[in-house]
Amino acid sequence: MARIVMKFGGTSVADLDRIRAVAQRVKRQRNAGHEVAVVVSAMSGTTNRLVGWCQALSPLHDAREYDTVVATGEQVTTGLLAIALQEIGVEARSWQGWQIPIRTDNAHGKARIAAIEGAELIRRMQAGQVPVVSGFQGIAPTGRITTLGRGGSDTSAVALAAALHADRCDIYTDVDGVYTTDPRIVPKARKLAKISYEEMLELASVGAKVLQTRSVELAMNEHVRVRVLSSFQDGPDDGAVGTLVVDEDEIVEKEIVSGIAYSRDEAKVVLRRVPDRPGIAASVFGELAQRSVNVDMIVQNAAADGTTDLTFTLGKADLPRAQAALGALASQIGFAELLTDPNVAKISVVGVGMRSHAGVANTMFRALADKAINIQVISTSEIKVSVLIAAEYTELAVRALHTAYGLDAD
Ligand code: ADP
Ligand code: ASP
Ligand code: MG
Repeated sequence: MARIVMKFGGTSVADLDRIRAVAQRVKRQRNAGHEVAVVVSAMSGTTNRLVGWCQALSPLHDAREYDTVVATGEQVTTGLLAIALQEIGVEARSWQGWQIPIRTDNAHGKARIAAIEGAELIRRMQAGQVPVVSGFQGIAPTGRITTLGRGGSDTSAVALAAALHADRCDIYTDVDGVYTTDPRIVPKARKLAKISYEEMLELASVGAKVLQTRSVELAMNEHVRVRVLSSFQDGPDDGAVGTLVVDEDEIVEKEIVSGIAYSRDEAKVVLRRVPDRPGIAASVFGELAQRSVNVDMIVQNAAADGTTDLTFTLGKADLPRAQAALGALASQIGFAELLTDPNVAKISVVGVGMRSHAGVANTMFRALADKAINIQVISTSEIKVSVLIAAEYTELAVRALHTAYGLDAD
């Protein structure tokens, strides 16, 4: 007998039939004798619609009210799944973040979980009840509802698994595991039986949406066994299907490159002809940091005339706030022009093997050159190389790289 947290994403609970299927899946685990807690996302499309409504009313909307609106999607799913479970004879109860409570910090829209009180849920699980918990949300020290950033239900599930001392956290989604790249754009992508926390963390942080970055970080730190698997496939679940996220030393055959990810969530910003003197970068990035705008890739090139072009990327959702901040700074530091381009994509190759193998970046540049794809910005870390390209070449680039690194399935 095990204690399992089962998490179901948006497509897995997209309509009443899917919710009934989830209820049956939960019932099977209960019948096998396991204690089960469930974490659910909003029904697919719901969160996008709620976010759209906030943006339509005001691009610079109040983050506390954004959270009030977008947290509602998950509440609906918890109630519906609890009803579906009760209907098939499984004792179940819905839980919102504030009821447990799932305590977070005050960073509305991208809050971090600080603590979860698990005792009451454990007591109920031991008594045979299935808690159905809203993912994505928590409660701030101020008492207001918070959300954890897009894809945050994964993080709710891993944090809950840690708080409940669960043996496993099963993340059910619309693909049957973690692949060498997004199987929706590369049909030749290969499923990985295991992936290391580190590589999964890096892949998630550069755009592989299959797990939210913070969920992998938490799993690594709290030693939670995470498995990614499909809610659309039936068959016996012996704990071996899907992809297991594990410590690096549990992986026998290490690839140089384990995966390729892309992100269309970033926008490029160029400040043209910025004075080339000390303190400019501190002013620009300081101003952005103050408004909680995270900057990702950065390049700077000094020209002979004492000015420099400063190019960087940031989340598309942050662009209106960044433009407001930089506009206010223009007269203070003096630059010629502020250009923004949302039509970019970041393509990244990730692998722990890069630590010990040379030429990984070069393979990337060559493969992109062969397809005549221009590289706008480059950044690297110990186990990753990322490039920024025009968004229209995303699929072409990912497929070319997947082949270039020998990742294509036979
Ligand atoms: P959920 O709603 O269940 O949380 P998501 O849409 O957030 O599902 O994540 C699953 C999706 O992640 C898949 O449909 C797939 O398109 C995408 N994805 C991106 N990269 C990968 C990868 N390397 N392996 C598997 N899926 C990936
Ligand atoms: N519903 C939220 C989102 O769409 C959280 C999640 O699905 O993980 O981002
Ligand atoms: Mg998700």
